[in-house]
Amino acid sequence: MVSERMKGLGTARSVIRELFEYGNTRAAQIGRENVFDFSIGNPSVPSPDAVNETAVRLLREQPDLIHAYTSAQGAADARQRFADSLNRRFGANYTADRLYLTVGAAASLCCVFNGLTCPGDEFIVFAPYFPEYKVFIEGAGARMVLIPPEIEAFQIDFDTFEKALNQHTKGVLVNSPNNPSGTVYSKATLERLAAILTEKSREYGHPIYLISDEPYREIVYPGFQIPWVPHLYRDTIVCYSFSKSLSLPGERIGYVLVPKEVSDGDAVYAAVAGAGRSLGYVCAPSLFQQVTSLCCDMTSDIKVYEENRNLLVTSLREMGYHVVEPGGAFYLFPRTLEPDDMAFSERAKKLDLLIVPGSGFGAPGHVRISYCVQTETIRRALPKFKELADSYK
Ligand code: PLP
Repeated sequence: MVSERMKGLGTARSVIRELFEYGNTRAAQIGRENVFDFSIGNPSVPSPDAVNETAVRLLREQPDLIHAYTSAQGAADARQRFADSLNRRFGANYTADRLYLTVGAAASLCCVFNGLTCPGDEFIVFAPYFPEYKVFIEGAGARMVLIPPEIEAFQIDFDTFEKALNQHTKGVLVNSPNNPSGTVYSKATLERLAAILTEKSREYGHPIYLISDEPYREIVYPGFQIPWVPHLYRDTIVCYSFSKSLSLPGERIGYVLVPKEVSDGDAVYAAVAGAGRSLGYVCAPSLFQQVTSLCCDMTSDIKVYEENRNLLVTSLREMGYHVVEPGGAFYLFPRTLEPDDMAFSERAKKLDLLIVPGSGFGAPGHVRISYCVQTETIRRALPKFKELADSYK
C-alpha cells in the first residue's frame, strides 16, 4: 500500500510538463528549430558572470568548508547579507534571525503553509495562479479557496474576495509579478487588500497572514512598480527565490522572511523552521547560500524579456488577440479565440506552437505564453500565431 494522494501526484504530470515533454519528443522528430515551445518558465538568459566567478572562487578557496552542512536555517553570514540587502533596498530593519534559507520558493511556500496550518485552516488564492499552490496548501492539510480572476486587468475581484473571508482564513497568497499573467498588483490594490485584512483580523480576533510569493520581484518593466508588501501590511511573510532573478532554477535556493513585526512573529519563525525540519528542507545548498548572498544585489541581464514582451504584445494585438499588458515576469496570458482553452491549445499544438491552457491556472478562456526564449524564436513563431488566429476567421 502507498499513499494514494502521493501516488496521484507522482503519476499525473502537470499540463505544463506534459506539453514540455511533448515538445522534446516533437523536437527529436522534426528538429528543435521547428518546435515553438512556450510552455515552461526556464530563464533564457544566463546568470551574471559574477555568479559563476564567485562559485568557482569559493570552490577554490574553501574546498572543505563550502561542501559542509550549515545551520538548519542557513549560514549566519549568508542570512546577514540577505538582511543587509533588504534593509538597504527597502529601508527596513530585518535581522538574520528572521530569515530561513531553503530550496527555492516552492520549499519556502511549503515551510510557510506547513508552519501556519492548524486543523480547519483555509488559504485564499487569486486566479490566475501557479497550480502548485494547491498541492502545497493541501499537502499542509489546509484548504485552498480560489477567487476567480478579474479578467479586465488581472487585479483582484474584491467583492468575491470579501465574501470568501471567514473565521477559518489563516492566510492569503499574493504573487506579483504574477505567473501566469505577468500582472503587477498596483499599490492601490495592495492597500485595499491590506485594509480589508486588517479589519477582518480584528473582527475574527486572529491575524490573517499575507504570504507574498515573489520569485519575479526583480523582473519588472518600465512604468510599473513593485511595492514592498511588508510596508503595506504588517502581517506579511515573504517567500523569495533566486530561480528567476539570477537564472538559477536548478540550484534550488531561496528564503522565507518573517519580519519581527509580524503577529506572533517568534512562533511563526519557529514554526517555519520546524516545518523545514519536518519536510527535510534544512541546510539549503551551502555553496549557493554563499554565492547568492554575495550576488543578491544583481540580476541576470533581463532586458531581453522586455524586448520579447513588446514584440509579442504588439504583434498579437495586431493579429486580433486580446492581451493585458504584463508589468513583469516573463509570461503573457492572452484570451483564447474560442471559449475552450484546451481545444485552442490543441489547435496550436498542431502548428507546433506549444502554449498552456489557462484552465490549469484557474482562468479558462486564456493561454499562457512563456516568453523566456530567444527573441528570434518569437519572430519565427509569429506566422504560427497568425495562422492560428486566421483559422478562427
Ligand atoms: N512561485 C511561482 C509563482 C513560480 O512561478 C515558481 C516557479 O516557476 C515558484 C513559486 C517556484 O519557484 P522555485 O524554483 O524557486 O521553487
